[in-house]
Amino acid sequence: MRNINPLCLFSYPLFDQGILTIWTPNTLHKYTSVASHSDPFCQQISVLEVSIKNLGNTLPRDKTKANDKAALAANVLLGRLPNLVSLRIDFEELSITNTRRMFHGLLLPNLTGFFTNTLPHSALTNFIIHHPQLTALTLGPSPKCLRSSQGCPLKKCSPIQTLIEIEGPSKCAARLIGPQTSRIAALWSGSADDHQDLFARAATVQPPIQSVLRFIDIVFTGFCESLLNNIAQAAPSVTTLRLRELGAGAVTVCRYHTFRIRVMLTLS
Ligand SMILES: [Zn+2]
Repeated sequence: MRNINPLCLFSYPLFDQGILTIWTPNTLHKYTSVASHSDPFCQQISVLEVSIKNLGNTLPRDKTKANDKAALAANVLLGRLPNLVSLRIDFEELSITNTRRMFHGLLLPNLTGFFTNTLPHSALTNFIIHHPQLTALTLGPSPKCLRSSQGCPLKKCSPIQTLIEIEGPSKCAARLIGPQTSRIAALWSGSADDHQDLFARAATVQPPIQSVLRFIDIVFTGFCESLLNNIAQAAPSVTTLRLRELGAGAVTVCRYHTFRIRVMLTLS
C-alpha cells in the first residue's frame, strides 16, 4: 500500500458508517490497493458507490489500457468486500468485455441492493443469476436490447424471488419481477413502448402479485387511457401511481403526476 493509510479512513464520517464512494479512476486504484492489504478496511464496508464518468484517457490505446485496468481493479476491490450490502456502480466508458471481467467470479453473499444506470445488460446476466437474494435492483436504459431481435439478455435470468423493488426499461425488467415485488419504476423504452411486457409479466407471476404491487412509476407517451386500464388490471391494489408523460420525441419528462390511490377501478 503506497497511497492511503487505511487507518486514516476510519476517521471519515461516511466511512464510519461503512459507506465508501469512488468518483475517479485514481481513487478506485488507491482503494483497491488498500483493500488488498487491509482486512479490517474490507470488512467494514457495507455500501459501495462507484461513479466514474471518464477513465481519463483520450488516445485509443490508452483508453483500452485504462478500461482494462479499471475492470481489474474493480474486480479485485469487489472480491474483497464480503459484507457488501448495497452496490451502486456506474462507468460511462467501460466496455462490455470489461464489465464482464469486473463481475467475473464474484459472489457477494450479503448483497441485497444493486443499482446501475450505465452498465450493459448483456454483461449483467451472470452477476444477477449469481445473486438471487437481491431485494432492490436498478437497470439503466439499454437501446441495444430494443434493437436486438433476440431481446434483452436478462431474459436468461429467472424471476428474483426476493425482489421487492425494481427500476428499469419495461421490456428488460419484466422478466425479473418476482412474487414479492411491490414497487416498479418502468422507464420508457422507445416510441412504441406500451409496457405490455411488464403487464403481461405482472399478471402471470406465481404466486400472484396483484395484492402485493403497491407502487408504480411509469413513463408513457400519447393517450394514457389504455395504460391506466392495464395498470388497474395488473395492480388493482396499487396505492401510489406516478405517471410521467413524455412529449412527442422528447427525451425529458414534460409532465409529472403522482396520485395517492385508495381504490383502483378498471376503466372499461
Ligand atoms: Zn435489457
